[in-house]
Amino acid sequence: MFGEPFARRQPEGVDETIFEFASRRIGVEAASVLIDAMVSGVFAGNIHELSLSSSLPKMAAMEEEHGGLVMAMLARMRERRTARREVEERCLRGEKVEELVQPGGPAGPGGTLTSFRRGLDTLPEALAQELGDSMRYGVEVVSVGRGGEGGGPPGGDGGRSGPAGGDAGRGDSMAPWAVRATAGETLFADAVVVALPSPRAEPLLKDLDLGLSSTIGAIATAGLAVVALAFDAAPMGGTPDGFGFLVPRGTGPRILGCLWDSSIFPGRAPEGKVLLRVMIGGAHDPEAVMEEEGALVSQVRADLETTMGLEAEPLFSRVYRWPLGIGQYTVGHQGRVDIIHRRLHGLPGLWLVGGSFYGISMNACIEKAGEQVEEILSCLGSGPET
Ligand SMILES: Cc1cc2nc3c(=O)[nH]c(=O)nc-3n(C[C@H](O)[C@H](O)[C@H](O)COP(=O)(O)OP(=O)(O)OC[C@H]3O[C@@H](n4cnc5c(N)ncnc54)[C@H](O)[C@@H]3O)c2cc1C
Repeated sequence: MFGEPFARRQPEGVDETIFEFASRRIGVEAASVLIDAMVSGVFAGNIHELSLSSSLPKMAAMEEEHGGLVMAMLARMRERRTARREVEERCLRGEKVEELVQPGGPAGPGGTLTSFRRGLDTLPEALAQELGDSMRYGVEVVSVGRGGEGGGPPGGDGGRSGPAGGDAGRGDSMAPWAVRATAGETLFADAVVVALPSPRAEPLLKDLDLGLSSTIGAIATAGLAVVALAFDAAPMGGTPDGFGFLVPRGTGPRILGCLWDSSIFPGRAPEGKVLLRVMIGGAHDPEAVMEEEGALVSQVRADLETTMGLEAEPLFSRVYRWPLGIGQYTVGHQGRVDIIHRRLHGLPGLWLVGGSFYGISMNACIEKAGEQVEEILSCLGSGPET
């Protein structure tokens, strides 16, 4: 790893896998252990298939802009030091300084894992509350197609104006987009945002544009199961101190990693109790997500015994399955996204957003959604204040 600053540069025009990049810069062993574990933990993915520039664009930029990872980290430390000094000087001059100088990064402010006090549900619940009656639940969309303008008056009945507030002086059936749901209901809209994982978005758009839908379908996702286990802290020798651990593939345990939830997030377990969250499955082990509950819990407990020496009986366990899991930006992902953009260009009023396309983290999804809202509003001819 000490040789990293002297590693050769990325060959021009090659969409490298994460493994190719990491083994070129820090060596095969470090790539297989450190980077593999990180990729399992973040993407539940395979480092031999995921594209570096699409999956970890910040890491790719570190090489491009600074010549390597160590040089980039040194540059960042210098930038931070300069910024901190500037803030101190401004404070000394009596200026009110509001910016915080903190590392930041994909994990959140300060590089630490961040969540809401009462868990991540807080975010969609707050959004739903804000949207009130315009939010519909339990409706499965089966197709998105042209409405009145593009494909003649749409079929289906019970038409109502779309969620965008729909009707801009035309009859509903003249709205450009028709969204059909399982119950036979059709919603008409001026703009449609498909915000589904790629395997769900693909069939919806098949009749509209086969090229678009098949390109979306080529973006895979990796399913995984999350097993939550609660313990008394005493038999574990107290609350574990740290973040948890990630497991490189091929080292024995089947689990991808374990987050020591009650140690990371205050309030996730009562005093004297411990909550662990274990991930299992992913691109290397796709069957795990649908395995029987008892088998999953037994596997997880066996792996926790191997890794943490944890033999205690859990107070309870819960299994959460995410069959569509996490988007896998394999080699060629950017090319697929470019094709999607080109095809969407010919379908004004239709947008695609979400973790399958532009970044798997919640932060990335929210950032991209913000950009798209601006585009949608300008397309609909209304300012952001409306
Ligand atoms: C186990 C796990 C752990 C993760 N941990 C983190 C983390 O720590 N930090 C982080 O930043 N990211 C994490 N992620 C990634 C993050 O959750 C996703 O990137 C994010 O949820 C993607 O948001 P989305 O809106 O694109 O899709 P989703 O959140 O999947 O939302 C899609 C919605 O569409 C609905 N839907 C699907 N089909 C239809 C249909 N036909 N009609 C109507 N509705 C439909 C679904 O029910 C779902 O509600 C994790 C993901 C998983 C699976």
